[in-house]
Amino acid sequence: MTLFVATNNAHKIRELQDLFPGTRLRRPAEEGLLFDHDETEDTFLGNSLGKAQALYALVKAPVLADDSGLCVDVLGGAPGVRSARYGSPDEGRTVLSAGEKNELLLREMSGRTDRTCRFVCAMTLVLSEHRFVSVQETCEGVLLESPRGEGGFGYDPIFLLPGEGLSMAELSLEEKNRLSHRGRAAARLRAVLESLEADP
Ligand code: IMP
Repeated sequence: MTLFVATNNAHKIRELQDLFPGTRLRRPAEEGLLFDHDETEDTFLGNSLGKAQALYALVKAPVLADDSGLCVDVLGGAPGVRSARYGSPDEGRTVLSAGEKNELLLREMSGRTDRTCRFVCAMTLVLSEHRFVSVQETCEGVLLESPRGEGGFGYDPIFLLPGEGLSMAELSLEEKNRLSHRGRAAARLRAVLESLEADP
């Protein structure tokens, strides 16, 4: 099966390709399509569905979309749906680097002892104009005091998995995909894809 992916984030695509091994993932840019959907909703689910349906309207073929981010409890769930644009002075047109965002978040959290947080991933599979499946999954963690590890992307170096005693950036791709919010959401959609193969 082939799915168009509603993202140009190379890190996400690498993880998704590993999570959907029997599926060919096609990026809009590879097809010469300019796809840059504004994330205007205030939920991961709304943004994931919005991105997926917008790309479906362009390609008229099955689409996979992921909207994800980091929610810190003591900050009322921030950065949340604004994780990619966190700290941006102009709502996302100038985006800070991952390192700058991590530094900023650690500064905002300085002196705070309640550091529980979670990664959230809403994933949507659009099959046709009126058929879609969305799932949302989480990965619970604790915000570190300073970055650790070289793997992953985004907020991974400052996210501790308490059960593993490791930051998300200290995991291999396979380990991250087994434990992460994206890995868990993908497992649910893989089951949907398998059931559709058996009974379209
Ligand atoms: P969006 O889903 O394109 O809005 O962007 C999600 C943003 O959340 C990314 O740019 C990262 O900053 C962050 N994020 C999402 N998933 C992960 C992850 O698996 N690890 C670290 N950061 C993530």
